[in-house]
Amino acid sequence: MALLFLWIYPSLLLFSPFLFHEFAPCEGLRNYPENEVTLLDSMSALGNLGWEAYPAEGWEEISVMDERNTPMRTYQVCNVMEASQNNWLRTRHIARDGAQRVYIEIKFTLRDCNSLPGVPGTCKETFNMFYYESNNANLWFIKESQYIKIDTIAADESFTQVDVGDRVMKLNTEVRDISNLSKKGFYLAFQDLGACIALVSVRVFYKKCPLTVLNLAQFPDTVTGGDSALVEVRGLCVNASEEFEAPRMYCSADGGWLVPIGRCVCKPGYEEHKDFCQPCRPGSYKASATDAYCTKCPPHSSSHLERASECVCEKGFHRAETDPRSMACTRPPSAPENTISTVNETCVTLEWSPPRDTGGRGDITYSLRCRKCSGDDVKCAPCGSGVHFVPRQFGLSVAMVMVTDLQPHSNYSFTIESLNGVSDLSPTPRGAVMVNVTTSQTVSVVLKERRSKDSITLAWQGPDRPNGAIVEYEVIYYEKNQREQNYTVLKTRSNVMTVDGLKPGTTYVFRVRARTEGGYGNYGGEIELETSHEDMLAIDPNQSTILAVSIAGGIILLIFLVACFVVSGRHCGYIKAKQDPDEEKMHFQHGRVKLPGSKTYIHPHTYEDPNQAVRDFAKEIDASSIRIERVIGAGEFGEVCSGRLRLQGKREIYVAIKSLKAGYSDKQRRDFLSEASIMGQFDHPNIIRLEGVVTRCKPVMIITEFMENGSLDTFLKKHDGQFTVIQLVGMLRGIASGMKYLSDMSYVHRDLAARNILVNSNLVCKVSDFGLSRVLEDDPEAAYTTRGGKIPIRWTSPEAIAYRKFTSASDVWSYGIVMWEVVSYGERPYWEMSNQDVIKAIDEGYRLPAPMDCPVVLHQLMLDCWEKGRSERPKFGQIVTTLDKLIRNPARLRELANSSVWEDPTTPEFSVSTVEEWLEAIKMGQYKENFSSAGYVTLDSVLYITISELVKMDVTLAGHQKKILSSVQSLQTQGTHVQV
Ligand code: AMP
Repeated sequence: MALLFLWIYPSLLLFSPFLFHEFAPCEGLRNYPENEVTLLDSMSALGNLGWEAYPAEGWEEISVMDERNTPMRTYQVCNVMEASQNNWLRTRHIARDGAQRVYIEIKFTLRDCNSLPGVPGTCKETFNMFYYESNNANLWFIKESQYIKIDTIAADESFTQVDVGDRVMKLNTEVRDISNLSKKGFYLAFQDLGACIALVSVRVFYKKCPLTVLNLAQFPDTVTGGDSALVEVRGLCVNASEEFEAPRMYCSADGGWLVPIGRCVCKPGYEEHKDFCQPCRPGSYKASATDAYCTKCPPHSSSHLERASECVCEKGFHRAETDPRSMACTRPPSAPENTISTVNETCVTLEWSPPRDTGGRGDITYSLRCRKCSGDDVKCAPCGSGVHFVPRQFGLSVAMVMVTDLQPHSNYSFTIESLNGVSDLSPTPRGAVMVNVTTSQTVSVVLKERRSKDSITLAWQGPDRPNGAIVEYEVIYYEKNQREQNYTVLKTRSNVMTVDGLKPGTTYVFRVRARTEGGYGNYGGEIELETSHEDMLAIDPNQSTILAVSIAGGIILLIFLVACFVVSGRHCGYIKAKQDPDEEKMHFQHGRVKLPGSKTYIHPHTYEDPNQAVRDFAKEIDASSIRIERVIGAGEFGEVCSGRLRLQGKREIYVAIKSLKAGYSDKQRRDFLSEASIMGQFDHPNIIRLEGVVTRCKPVMIITEFMENGSLDTFLKKHDGQFTVIQLVGMLRGIASGMKYLSDMSYVHRDLAARNILVNSNLVCKVSDFGLSRVLEDDPEAAYTTRGGKIPIRWTSPEAIAYRKFTSASDVWSYGIVMWEVVSYGERPYWEMSNQDVIKAIDEGYRLPAPMDCPVVLHQLMLDCWEKGRSERPKFGQIVTTLDKLIRNPARLRELANSSVWEDPTTPEFSVSTVEEWLEAIKMGQYKENFSSAGYVTLDSVLYITISELVKMDVTLAGHQKKILSSVQSLQTQGTHVQV
């Protein structure tokens, strides 16, 4: 601490010279604490202080110089030798400046009476301090009694002769305060009653709470209250800030701020920096006052100017009103994909995969537009309100809808749009996909009956909404429990028929269907009626039975049924019924079960002239109506091309064109065309449709419908992991339905495999490859067996391999393999095992394990198809029913059989040592570069990879992510042995 030397004038010989220790530093004289406002400081007075002292021989004003030669004014009194001292020293008027409470700090020295030799007992070691409040600044006299005493002041440190000898003494500092001042100012007074005092400094000040900024609110300089009251102060928000909660603080009596309440926050576009708000820099933004800091613009947005409260979306990207400003700008989704339509009479179920590009949002919904089309789909009009959508038409959150109450036998075009929260903001057309469907028909027929002992009369009402005039009705009946042996078909143009020649007291089963110009509907429900034991001719209205007869089947099916009748007519007896000239009667007595409405496939070899088979089953097409566009594959007999076919009066359609290469032999021509004569007998939505043949000019061609997605095995490999289980089941259902149709027609395919299934743009799967020579020559998978003949071993049942027992049951075995191919996305059955090993393993009871993520129910169905005993295997009809139930109740697909893959000891394993080898082994080789450029170069480094890291590396397909992550799991547990 610096020292200040005060030289007291010789007039006070006793004290001179003094040396004061611990006196305030020179430079500190005018440096008061921040929260103190000085009203009076005797040490800073340059001239006379001008204080009143009386009597005149009492207090004496002395000028002294400090060490820097700055003059200072002090007062002293030391009349200790005389008794009855009453010396007053009164300051000038001190304006209180609004303060209610002021402090007086005095610095003084006081002589110890005992150290003064010969002083009388009246010597004092204290003095008194008084004040007098007044509005008058020029009072020349104040009565002693008017003063209010502040205190008697005693010295903490008095000094003695010894002290003087050392010339060192301590300066006393005392502070007192006076409260509740109310007048303009006051006078201070010091009363000496006979002490020896030097009043070195008197400072009068009050305290304030200094201007401060807290929580972005500025609180002004505030004078403290009187007594110890707190002063409540309201803060003002600093620049570019606003009140979040009213800012308040309390100014305490000693000049400190207390209890801050509330705060201000920087306005949008500004962030807090120290005690003020600074603007956000370009490229950043602050959307809300309550956000603390500016943040970088979210993806697909930018801010070019300072103080942005939001970033502007890049072109093509948008922000929905409800989107937080912190969210990336997004865009509308791409179109839904892989639509599947399943028509059930006048009800259509549409399913699809979510759009590939979600636009960066999770709020995808779908809306459907329905249009009814006529005249080859050329004229379409909105469906109107009669059509219903379950769960709803607009704002669907699931990728599936059921459309009901459609008109039978009509063409509909559905547009499925994918939408998200910014679709309405985007001027670009919405991502949409169109699905065309054709409905079939269900109508009710009211059936009445009149019975006698040998006849039954039936009467019925026509369908409610037939698709054209009804040409005739067909009634089929058989003796209950005798169906397998004998049934009879009757036809009539009227809607009443008496069936006679029946056995008395016997139960017969009747079914009815209608035929319009479009063809037959399906047979519907059965009615069982018993002939009476005696004649009972009266109509018994009470015995009227209402029977819902389902006359179902789409236009395609109806056309097929007409064709069926052509075939049936050729091969079955067709006799007139006696009862009604309009009735015709057919008897089937083949001893073989044939369901009504189905027909038998005719092998082209049963024709003496195979060309006749082609003429019978395939339509000759004029080559000029075909336009070949590009080569899409290679068949056994030549190229396969895609192109267009325009038949007169019909709209142009896309077709596949198989041509017979030049230089063929007669046998090759026959074999080539045999496929057309087989295919031409089929008409089913899951069997590839023959459009016709070109045989009258060269090259000879077979024209079929065009399947945009080519063969199923290649398609699945290309879209590994991209479909929902329901979509996969939908595909399998289609194949099973096609196979049911073939087996109902007694056609055995022999080479059912994913490579022989074609897929169209709606993900509808159709069975193809019907050529006679195909298994023998065409299929690269077919291998020679020890018994001779080529067989696709991996797809073929043991009995077919062993003794060429090809049946629909062996097709069911192959179907099980197709199921496995589908669920594993085109994996090769039994992987790299040799054909011999496969035969051996199957014989020993080994069966393919469930592919990854395969529902238990599906694997069980596969295992059922692979029953050793062929009669144990399910029929295709049962498979269709099982799959339909699964589609209706997808919860049953949730339980996965995954674990079995990993637990099965026969699951192939590869030992890998590099990331590349590993990715190749799990068939994810396409991501090798992504991994290496992201720094994953050792196997160790991938062990703890997460899904978000995969996303960063552009591995965005859920199926691929799943595959990689489950393989990572096996790497963690089994080291470098990777199961694939
Ligand atoms: P195929 O001779 O029937 O095995 O046909 C050879 C290849 O041509 C098939 O693997 C398909 O990729 C393609 N292909 C055959 N028929 C069609 C079709 N109708 N639509 C599209 N591609 C087809």
